[in-house]
Amino acid sequence: IPVDSFDLVIFGGTGDLARRKILPGLFRRFRSGQMPAEARIIGAARSDMDDAGYRQMIREAIAEFGSEEKNDAGGIDAFLGRLHYVAIDATGDGGWSQLRDLMRDGVIRAFYFSVAPSLFGALAERLHQHGIADASSRIVVEKPFGRDLASAKALNATLAEHFDEGQIYRIDHYLGKETVQNLMAVRFGNVLFEPLWNSHYIDHIQITVAETVGVTGRGSYYDKSGAMRDMVQNHLMQLLCLIAMEPPSTYDADTVRDEKLKVIRALQPVEPHQIVRGQYEASQDGPSYRDDAENPRSFTESFLALKCHIANWRWAKVPFYIRTGKRMKARSSEIAVVFKDLGHTIFEGDTARHRNILSIRLQPNEGMDLQVTIKEPGPGGMRLVDVPLDMTFADALGPDREDAPDAYERLIMDVIRGNQTLFMRGDEVEAAWAWTDPIIEGWEARNDVPKLYDAGTAGPEDAMMLMHRDGRRWREIK
Ligand code: NAD
Repeated sequence: IPVDSFDLVIFGGTGDLARRKILPGLFRRFRSGQMPAEARIIGAARSDMDDAGYRQMIREAIAEFGSEEKNDAGGIDAFLGRLHYVAIDATGDGGWSQLRDLMRDGVIRAFYFSVAPSLFGALAERLHQHGIADASSRIVVEKPFGRDLASAKALNATLAEHFDEGQIYRIDHYLGKETVQNLMAVRFGNVLFEPLWNSHYIDHIQITVAETVGVTGRGSYYDKSGAMRDMVQNHLMQLLCLIAMEPPSTYDADTVRDEKLKVIRALQPVEPHQIVRGQYEASQDGPSYRDDAENPRSFTESFLALKCHIANWRWAKVPFYIRTGKRMKARSSEIAVVFKDLGHTIFEGDTARHRNILSIRLQPNEGMDLQVTIKEPGPGGMRLVDVPLDMTFADALGPDREDAPDAYERLIMDVIRGNQTLFMRGDEVEAAWAWTDPIIEGWEARNDVPKLYDAGTAGPEDAMMLMHRDGRRWREIK
């Protein structure tokens, strides 16, 4: 279904994110017919360039970063015809009237701030000063949204000077992933799960986001951030909220976000012994974190594992274990809901521990499986075995899936539709920092030194101990 017509301005339209994700994504939406044929996309950045130069840049970006659609030469030409370019310095006065002249009346105006957050204020102010943005315009802002509570509050305040909360779309691309939305469909669209979704039946939850890449090329940025700020405060926290939140009364933006906010506010402080920070060492396939970050004395964590609790009735005494790291053994992201053991078995001689585990895979092979116990086939009597009831979305939903939007495309279309459900609200972001800040301040005050781990592993030994101490085990990263 096509969205309403729009003019989308991408500030930072020549940057890495625009070339790698935003424009190839928009091209896919154009091909699918969801982007109206007369919609306009205007790249705006500092480089001096004309429309033809920008179209050539994006042609090359689609060739490099697009998937199968990059062979659609006719489609690319038509899409590039929708592109314009204006040279604008966010902090200067040139280019704004040209931008205003390019924007059409009577269509949705959206502004994607794909630039450093230090420029958000200047952009917001000039959009108003030059009469380009109005009360129905939308702005999209990228991570990082602050580096602590104070800076996030300041950013929120800056944006609030010119835009209402209902106009601000803070992207967390994890929320745009198909599986993440399916998590809500499974929880709230089935009768099976909700009765079991609490401390009576769930032993613990594990969330893992493991990457194989290091920080090569973006080390100087990452070194000031680390896994807590770069991954946990935003992406993992959002996943945790969707798992833990109470059922919203309707699937609408503020109702869903109200419930997520309650989860973040109920998160208990984390004690030092419940956290393991790690940093990767050199191995035969790559340099150490410190070499990648070009900081021989860096104490920044490229890995983090922690255990936390949510102080409410549903989750009383249920630990949430979360971990994320770079240069790990596989690229794999998963949420696992591990149910409690059976209290009693009727099968004589069966001493194995059988557990139901609902595993929600974000990557690879987006999908879910539910581990159930069945009888091992054959004449051996009542021998039990655990097998997955597997639903890999690509298999289950067939070839149409090829056309399914990826996270960025879906979220941009939601901006045009005016649907904020999958975007973070300002108070959510602040609450997440309010929980994260004392943890970071704690390790800074202790001069905590991250534990080293070999690249290509599951992280430092201490992270294993975090669970072993509780008689539990991390799921294998594969
Ligand atoms: P980049 O350095 O590749 O590109 C920056 C863009 O901003 C360029 O187009 C540049 O011309 C423009 N720019 C810089 N200063 C400007 C100014 N004064 N006025 C106007 N334009 C200016 O950066 P990027 O990787 O594309 O990231 C953009 C934003 O998205 C950043 O906030 C980053 O943190 C965020 N982000 C990037 C990624 C990614 O994968 N690259 C992922 C998540 C978030």
